[in-house]
Order: sequence, then structure tokens, then C-alpha cells
Amino acid sequence: DRVKRAGGGHAAFQRQEDEQTDLPVERLTALHRALERHELQLYFQPVVHAATQAVVAHEALLRWIRPAGIVSPLDFILLAETSGLIVPIGRWVLRQAVDAVKTRRVKRVSVNVSALEIRQPDFVEHLRWVLAESRVEPRRLLLELTESSLLEPRFAAVLHDVHTLGVRTALDDFGTGYNSLVVLASLPVQVVKIDRSFTAPIGKDTPAGKRALEVVRGIVTLANAFDLPSVAEGIETPEQAQLLRTVGCAYFQGYLFGRPEPLSLSADPSNHLPDRSLRVRGTAGG
Ligand code: C2E
Ligand code: MG
Ligand code: MG
Ligand code: MG
Repeated sequence: DRVKRAGGGHAAFQRQEDEQTDLPVERLTALHRALERHELQLYFQPVVHAATQAVVAHEALLRWIRPAGIVSPLDFILLAETSGLIVPIGRWVLRQAVDAVKTRRVKRVSVNVSALEIRQPDFVEHLRWVLAESRVEPRRLLLELTESSLLEPRFAAVLHDVHTLGVRTALDDFGTGYNSLVVLASLPVQVVKIDRSFTAPIGKDTPAGKRALEVVRGIVTLANAFDLPSVAEGIETPEQAQLLRTVGCAYFQGYLFGRPEPLSLSADPSNHLPDRSLRVRGTAGG
């Protein structure tokens, strides 16, 4: 495993021989147990309005809490996808994310969805059930899909069904894959998320920095032509935010505005809605 910060700013990952192994089979067993033993946790990162910096939503980002440290999804999502474990994990993520809305710890939530989840014949039915059961308004949920899902034969049908449910979708990591323009041109997505690889060089006084800003300007202009707002990811400096405002990017996400963090169990008072009667109740964080 790589030693890395996994969000929250406190997660130096330490290798521990009896916990960590690079054997795929043992990694898989460990990940399987992680789900059963509640070692997975959702962190939430704010998405802010570019003009006002008001928090408009949170993106749910998965973390694996191990005795030795916090593991980033970059280190286990691929294993989860190739093994199929992403399906039960994704269902757990959806429940937890919707629960965060239900218990009013966040107003709106973004959930990352893998291609294999899209492939499940009951994906939309499960989504419908989770929303109905929690009585969370569908418009409070946004599903983040990547271009890899384009390869799924049912992608267009699923997008339409999700849209019909009233759940919005975002095209994540826009421009890093291929065929993203096809999605914009033909399918109902509501948000474009500009990958950090485009925003990271912005603000640097180098040719690469200037080119990156022009690429983002192009993406934002294209998205606007479809009436779609853009979210720029990975903003770390005020200079980046200022430049991205000048190209018309509507929403920001990045360490400058907030790192991914666990939510406290009680509702955030700054978030509260008029009716305080709905409180955290039941088990496992509500
Ligand atoms: P993503 O959906 O593009 O998420 C954005 C990533 O950028 C997150 O990495 C976030 O922590 C990181 N990030 C946000 N702001 C900054 C910043 O200012 N600087 C830097 N350096 N990084 C920033 P994270 O949490 O490690 O997640 C990586 C990827 O793993 C996600 O990329 C997403 O594709 C996937 N992932 C995370 N959670 C889930 C999940 O529940 N289900 C699925 N299927 N995939 C997930
Ligand atoms: Mg995402
Ligand atoms: Mg992204
Ligand atoms: Mg990304």
C-alpha cells in the first residue's frame, strides 16, 4: 500500500505487517471483512458556490479505517470493482449517504457510482427503494458517473430511469476518459465535474498553467451551452479559485474550502432546516 494522506489531514498511513499484505486474495478477504466489520466509513467534502462560497452539497468519499491507518479509495476501489465487492459496498455507501441527508447532517449529497453498479439489473430499483424507505427527496441526491460507465450497454437506459426518478447525475472526471462529448450531446446529465488534473496546474505562471486554464474555460463554455453547471475539483489556492471564477465555473470543491471529513453524529446547526423534529435516531449513526 502507498503511504498517503487520505483526507481529513491526519491520516499518515503506516504499513503494519500483520494487517496489510499485498497478496490479492488476502487483500480481498480483508476488504470483504471490512464491509462486515464496519471498517468502511464515509467522509464528506463540501461543494461550494463559486460566487458566495456557500456550501451547496457534500460529496461522499469512501475510506477504509484500518488499525494501521486510513486507506484511500485509490488503494481499494479497483480491487472492489474487479472482485464485484463494489456492488454491496456501493449499496452501503448509498444508504449511508442518503441517511446523512435524512438526518440533516448534509443538505444534498453526491455519491460516486462505478460501472459495475450500473450493470446491475436492479440498480434503479434499489435506488428507488432506498429513497422511498428513507423518504429523502430524490433531488437531494446526485450520482457521479464516469466515462467508464459508457461501456455499459444499459448506461443510457439507466441514466434515463435515474432522471425519471428525479435523481440528478454528474459526469465525473470530465475529459479524462473518452467520449465524454457523446454523453453531453445525447444523455441527461445535470452537472459536469472538472477533474483535478485540469485544475491543479492553474495559477502556476507556466505555459502548462495557462493552457490548463484555457482547457477549463473551454469545458465550462461547452457545459454552459447545454445549461449545465460545472464543478471544479481540487482547488487548493485562492489564486486558482479567482482564475476559475473568471472563466465562469459555478461551483468549487477542494482543500481550500474543506477536506473530506467524517460527519459528526448530530446535525450541523448551521445546516438546520426549520423543522427540528427529525433527529438522528435508530442505530449506526441514525
Ligand atoms: P473523485 O470522485 O474524482 O473524488 C475527488 C477526489 O479528489 C477525492 O479523492 C478527494 O479526496 C480528492 N480531492 C478533493 N479536493 C482535493 C484537493 O484540493 N486536493 C487534492 N489533492 N485532492 C482533492 P479520494 O477521496 O481519494 O477518492 C478517489 C476516487 O475514488 C474518487 O475520485 C472516486 O472516483 C473514487 N471513490 C471514492 N469514494 C467512492 C465510492 O463510494 N464509490 C465509488 N465507486 N468510488 C469512490
Ligand atoms: Mg466524484
Ligand atoms: Mg471527480
Ligand atoms: Mg477525479
